[in-house]
Amino acid sequence: MYTSTEGKEGAPASAVIDLRSDTVTKPCAEMRRAMAEAEVGDDVFGEDPTVNEIQRRAAQIFGMEDALFVTTGTMGNLVSIMTHCRVRGSEVLVGDQSHLYFYEQGGAAQVAGVLPRSVKTLPDGRLDLQDLERQIQHGYPDVHFAKTRLICLENTHNRMGGRVLPLSYMKEVRDIADRYGLKVHLDGARLINAAVSLGVEPVEIVKYCDSVSLCLSKALGAPAGSLLGGTAEFIAEARRNRKMLGGGMRQAGVLAAAGLVALRLARENLTRDHQNAQTFAKAVKELRSPLCSTDPDTVESNMVLLALPGKLAGEELCEQLGAVTSEEKQDGGGVAVKALPISSQHVRLVWHRDISAADTQSAFHKLASVLQKYSK
Ligand SMILES: *Cc1c(COP(=O)(O)O)cnc(C)c1O
Repeated sequence: MYTSTEGKEGAPASAVIDLRSDTVTKPCAEMRRAMAEAEVGDDVFGEDPTVNEIQRRAAQIFGMEDALFVTTGTMGNLVSIMTHCRVRGSEVLVGDQSHLYFYEQGGAAQVAGVLPRSVKTLPDGRLDLQDLERQIQHGYPDVHFAKTRLICLENTHNRMGGRVLPLSYMKEVRDIADRYGLKVHLDGARLINAAVSLGVEPVEIVKYCDSVSLCLSKALGAPAGSLLGGTAEFIAEARRNRKMLGGGMRQAGVLAAAGLVALRLARENLTRDHQNAQTFAKAVKELRSPLCSTDPDTVESNMVLLALPGKLAGEELCEQLGAVTSEEKQDGGGVAVKALPISSQHVRLVWHRDISAADTQSAFHKLASVLQKYSK
């Protein structure tokens, strides 16, 4: 059985340490209480007070006019693209390693009828700005081309290991967008992680964007829900698109109530997650294993990417981490560490609220013992 330590200091390590994703967190006692006691109404009529409250709170956090509670980050991104690109023949520029391009089934094309054109993603999650600018089709483009209307950024960057985009870069993208009359959408599934990492308020990041989406169900630890921010006009249209996509929920206040708790606890939880990830990365570096390495300088939020240059493949490492050997059992336990290979040469580990400092240490010892077995 999974035993959660709820990340308390000094708590015993779990028998199963799940570092596959920060989506695996279960709602804490405070969230469950808030859900049980939430005041609710029909949100399609705009009458759910708890949904209205989280939307007001989100607008404040984003520094934007209005916000909308949506089912998922995927829906937030899709609704944003549909809302920004209402005119047929529109194109959106997205990173080739972005969640939007890589993991959302091409929803922009499949559902919204918008052409996603990919731009090279650099190892730190930024888009190559020369490539970006070269691809823009503005004004009255040649009849062969769709017209670019939107640029999408991702901060923190998921596939690049939780990298945080510098504010100076956000401004550079804004300047390019303004030069060509384009909108900027930020996939901020982990926006608060980025803000905590940079030591700024989220509004300092969001101010360069026309819209933003934030996941409550990732590192923030709520069971479901995302928030979309923008101008009042944008959100009014986004609300229509949300309904069309089947995202008009009724007494959604039970979910929003958990989200409000998640927002309140965010800074404290994410600060601890980032510290745990950093501690783990430094310990891995000190191992100096030829099979597995990571650079703590690139660990900027709650993720660690393990690079596997040699004979140990990502899939195999994950299998070994997840298995408890009979010797380990005899020695009185042994932990299983769950992790995901994102390619045969990379394994991703994600910290979250249900992982304590003690879990972090146990996970490291497990990795070290697996690596030792392979180095023989
Ligand atoms: C998880 C994620 C999403 C999608 O969120 P869901 O709630 O799983 O649909 C979008 N963007 C990024 C960067 C993500 O990590």
